[in-house]
Amino acid sequence: MKTRFAPSPTGRLHVGNIRTALQNYLLAKKMGGSFLLRLDDTDAERSTEAYAQGIREDLAALGLVPDEEAKQSDRFDRYEAAFETLREAGRIYACYETPEELELRRKVLLGRGLPPIYERPEVENDPVEGREPHWRFRLDHDAVIEWEDGVRGPQHFEPAKISDPVIRRADGSWLYMLPSTVDDIELAVTDVMRGEDHVSNSAIQLQMFDALGADRPRLAHTALLVSESGKLSKREGSEGVGALEEHGLEPMALLSVLARIGTSQPVEPAHDLEALAAGFDLSTFGRAPARFSWDEVAHINARLLHETDYEAVAHRLPDGIGPERWALLRANIERLDDVAGWQSVFDGEIASPDMDDEDRAYLGEAADVAESLDWNGDTWGALTGALKEKTGRKGKALFLPLRLALTGQRSGPEMAALLPLIDKATATARLRG
Ligand code: GLU
Repeated sequence: MKTRFAPSPTGRLHVGNIRTALQNYLLAKKMGGSFLLRLDDTDAERSTEAYAQGIREDLAALGLVPDEEAKQSDRFDRYEAAFETLREAGRIYACYETPEELELRRKVLLGRGLPPIYERPEVENDPVEGREPHWRFRLDHDAVIEWEDGVRGPQHFEPAKISDPVIRRADGSWLYMLPSTVDDIELAVTDVMRGEDHVSNSAIQLQMFDALGADRPRLAHTALLVSESGKLSKREGSEGVGALEEHGLEPMALLSVLARIGTSQPVEPAHDLEALAAGFDLSTFGRAPARFSWDEVAHINARLLHETDYEAVAHRLPDGIGPERWALLRANIERLDDVAGWQSVFDGEIASPDMDDEDRAYLGEAADVAESLDWNGDTWGALTGALKEKTGRKGKALFLPLRLALTGQRSGPEMAALLPLIDKATATARLRG
């Protein structure tokens, strides 16, 4: 069993194709198969090695490491061979129309109320003096195209209603359709999962598989990604691994979201790809568009961190944040970077908050009590208990000035757990202001 992810190296990965990569990765891992990265670089003008390298790095940053890699520009001789086979079998023919002539024909057909399907010759087009031909694949009009789609269920296409696709330009360069089929055959891809914008390509490609005498792969086409409010904006749609880094979000937060949107399964934080693979299930995918938002990624990011063990993040934490401090902080951060802000609460300087005279006086009393306390017991309970008795304060009036003075923040970890981690001299000095 083998899946593949086939990006064109004409840019970095964005959320849409990260989702496709993830789906193919998870499907392979779930089934004990392998995951192929195929670089669709037949467009020599727009494809670059720098983008190919960028895609490899993006996949590595996400942990979606391919088991194998191929690139189309290494395989032109294979496409040539398939082209010859199909041409000899009468399945490829030369065409001489210019784009303008094709457009005119389209308009004439539409004007007559007919579908704008390419009017193909019985056998071959007559050559036109002075023009190099481009090439089309002859669909078999007698062979209805059907498959059981892994997401969409039974699919049915009438080939007579589809134009014979152009597969090769007059300059000899390849369009997407045939090379992809040849690769899927020769690189032994068994499962193709991609966006539903490829459904009609699939119909054509299945006839190519048949014409080349190859087994068909299983196909699954997922509904496209949209934003909460509709179409993904250009910016949202182009963001990828760079945006994760920019917002300080964990790759697994993005992957947790992308693995489950568009399915009937809830989006839950997953700590590793194995967990996502275990739950990956084509039968839960729906036909409605999958709604994506970075807000949901940020929300899952926070939930993910709240359950993350110290060992899993130790190497990324600032010096001085050990297991005890992490256990205390993790429930109070949304991004891992937030930890740095808490570090100064333990051992650094914090800005002394604005207080009115009454609260200042109260904190002076608190400092006196703190000085007399045994710092190893229930320090917070002892401090607040004594202050309650002494001052008659309770609730917010009792707790908030203490929290503000001790941490510089209005909210955060449980003070009972936090206070013993601030040493006595520091705590007392902060209360004195
Ligand atoms: N390079 C194509 C794309 O990015 C691949 C499509 C496919 O066969 O999966 O749309």
